[in-house]
Amino acid sequence: MRAAANAGCVHIVGAGLAGLAAAVALARNGRSVILHEAAPHAGGRCRSYFDAELGCRIDNGNHLLLAGNGAALEYLDRIGARSSLEGPSEAAFPFVDAATGEHWTVRPNRGAVPWWVFRAARRVPQTRAFDYLAPLALRRANPSATITAVLDPHARLFRQLWEPLAVAALNTSAEQGSATLFRRMLAETLGRGGAACRPLVPRIGLSESFVEPALARLRMQGGEIRFGARLRALGFGPDAISELAFETGSIALDSADHVILAVPAAIAARLVPGLVVPDRHSPIVNAHFRQSLPAGSPFFVGVVGGAAEWIFRKREALSVTVSAADRFVERSAPELRDLFWRDVALAYRLPTIPVPPARVVKERRATFLASPEQLKRRPQQVTAWRNLLLAGDYVDTGLPATIEGAIRSGFAAAGLAIDRRLEALSGNPGCSRAPVNLTAEI
Ligand SMILES: Cc1cc2nc3c(=O)[nH]c(=O)nc-3n(C[C@H](O)[C@H](O)[C@H](O)COP(=O)(O)OP(=O)(O)OC[C@H]3O[C@@H](n4cnc5c(N)ncnc54)[C@H](O)[C@@H]3O)c2cc1C
Repeated sequence: MRAAANAGCVHIVGAGLAGLAAAVALARNGRSVILHEAAPHAGGRCRSYFDAELGCRIDNGNHLLLAGNGAALEYLDRIGARSSLEGPSEAAFPFVDAATGEHWTVRPNRGAVPWWVFRAARRVPQTRAFDYLAPLALRRANPSATITAVLDPHARLFRQLWEPLAVAALNTSAEQGSATLFRRMLAETLGRGGAACRPLVPRIGLSESFVEPALARLRMQGGEIRFGARLRALGFGPDAISELAFETGSIALDSADHVILAVPAAIAARLVPGLVVPDRHSPIVNAHFRQSLPAGSPFFVGVVGGAAEWIFRKREALSVTVSAADRFVERSAPELRDLFWRDVALAYRLPTIPVPPARVVKERRATFLASPEQLKRRPQQVTAWRNLLLAGDYVDTGLPATIEGAIRSGFAAAGLAIDRRLEALSGNPGCSRAPVNLTAEI
């Protein structure tokens, strides 16, 4: 569909997944799009690069997608990159216990009726079918409850399954993490059956799946991409943004133009007066070991009771991820390398020495802290200015800070810019507005 000639230009600031999703959706709709990105590359917190010391390409951090992440898969379809993901043919989550060396695989069945909990071979060893009912209590949790206020932290199933899933999805400890956000995440995945939980990872790298094909599609559809364009300030008119001031120069906006601000929360708060955003962050530590394994070995393994939490098999590396990694951020890279390798060796049945060359990457502000208090600070996407929209994993998507959340926010911002519902919604000062349907089809 082509837009009317006077539909105006949409300036998208920030080429992370939220900005890319918005840009791809708008260009597909025939809107004129300019994507401004401060860095010399796109992808933000989800990208790949060549590590000269390791001599191979690595991802900034391991990212796991599930087949139920509908917006992310829709985005990959639109940029023609869905086939760049791979994963096991069914929902299968291999685990190893670092203390006992025991291996097991959790295998939810495809359908929504969870008969898998009645099969010992499909569930966590030494647990009973009845134990799997515990998360039902999350439905009654009030918005200020943490996960451990609702689920018993001493239960075997909590330590072997619920806690690893919660920490990975929320990037927040179970003691601090929001029970309602964890419930939402479970409802969108395990609650819909194994078909929605099938794990997916990029065959080559994050950029090859999520970034490069999007830039190519955008260029093909006439979108313009400006790298090295850091937005310094917004010019505010009485009810609309009038100017974008970049370090390299300013752009005056026409009355039909829109701005989608898809920068991280802290930057958005600096640019938009009065904007309240999550202001506490949680780190993720990754360690990439230069080690190739045969194609048949597991795509990933979860580690319980160790230092590593999840280990991913990449083409040229074995890669460790630790979420909510406050306990590791101050420790030295050589120390972490030795500590994590013990778990990698156990998980993939490799020798403990020699330890292969490794790159340790600490993302101190990987995502916002998904605590009940911080969730209250997530803003809506519409603002007090009729032509200014927010996108990013931190806006109020109802999801944790994830690829799925970022892409949903990008699609929703594009939908708002397209159908001009924005005008109908604008008029009240402040940043909190009537909830917007984040799943708007565009
Ligand atoms: C190590 C790590 C592991 C993760 N693992 C997972 C996972 O397994 N599964 C999952 O779903 N999610 C995971 N995530 C979360 C996921 O990566 C993020 O939620 C998502 O990438 C956020 O996208 P975004 O577009 O909202 O923000 P960003 O990626 O931060 O994009 C913002 C962009 O704005 C640009 N920018 C900033 N300031 C300006 C300015 N003034 N002017 C112009 N441009 C500007 C930045 O350079 C950046 O490109 C992980 C994140 C990290 C860091």
